[in-house]
Amino acid sequence: MAAIELRGVTKRYERRGLLRSNSVTALHDVDLAVEDGEIFGFLGPNGAGKSTAIDIMLDYVQPTSGAVRVLGHDVQTNSVAIRERTGVLPDGYDAVGERTGREHVELAIEAKGTNDDPEDLLERVDMLGPDSYPVEQYSKGMAQRLMLAMALVGNPDLLILDEPSTGLDPNGARTMRRIVREENDRGATVFFSSHILEQVEAVCDRVGILDGGELVTVDSIDRLRETI
Ligand code: ADP
Ligand code: ADP
Repeated sequence: MAAIELRGVTKRYERRGLLRSNSVTALHDVDLAVEDGEIFGFLGPNGAGKSTAIDIMLDYVQPTSGAVRVLGHDVQTNSVAIRERTGVLPDGYDAVGERTGREHVELAIEAKGTNDDPEDLLERVDMLGPDSYPVEQYSKGMAQRLMLAMALVGNPDLLILDEPSTGLDPNGARTMRRIVREENDRGATVFFSSHILEQVEAVCDRVGILDGGELVTVDSIDRLRETI
């Protein structure tokens, strides 16, 4: 089964101005199948349409046309079931507020209604210790680790990581890769979106390259290396 399936997906954003309106095609007729159990890299420069594709997979944005299935469910009719079984690391998270890291993880567990141990999750991302500080004191890298721990709540079948290495130092990037592999070994499908080739190369089995809203290539990392 495909964990993610996009068929003929097009997304146009309409921009309405006072004198003129125009539209931006963020995705153009994208066909994509991410297989169950793979680590799939989604590579493309800023503005290529990666976040739009992710938002569509989670039903935060509706496609202009096309069909989308995730974890066997139709996105438009069953996004609740999809979100329940998916862990998401969003791009560009700002750690604000006085709640501690531990409290954030506890809230994520409560929201998903699972019986995860906050301590285990925090330990996996090397955040035991700093978990007692308010998140507003976190560096970007610490916030990113915390968000990763929250994405792991409930042992999701699908992990969607949007620019996961943002703000991470080499150590943090290593933790990120370790967790991607651990989750994949456990059976999770991983969708790894990034504009940095080296990061995608380091963990992914296959890669799709998105450029200007078009999926230009889908291939194994090995074959891609020969052509780049
Ligand atoms: P990426 O994640 O690869 O950087 P995005 O999906 O964020 O790409 O953006 C793709 C294109 O769609 C860009 O031209 C961006 O400006 C545009 N876009 C994204 N979201 C919106 C929106 N809500 N309204 C209008 N244009 C948008
Ligand atoms: P990314 O490149 O990671 O997608 P962006 O800065 O392009 O980050 O987008 C951040 C947020 O702003 C996203 O939610 C996106 O949908 C929205 N966005 C991006 N471009 C536009 C735009 N031109 N008009 C309105 N919203 C936009």
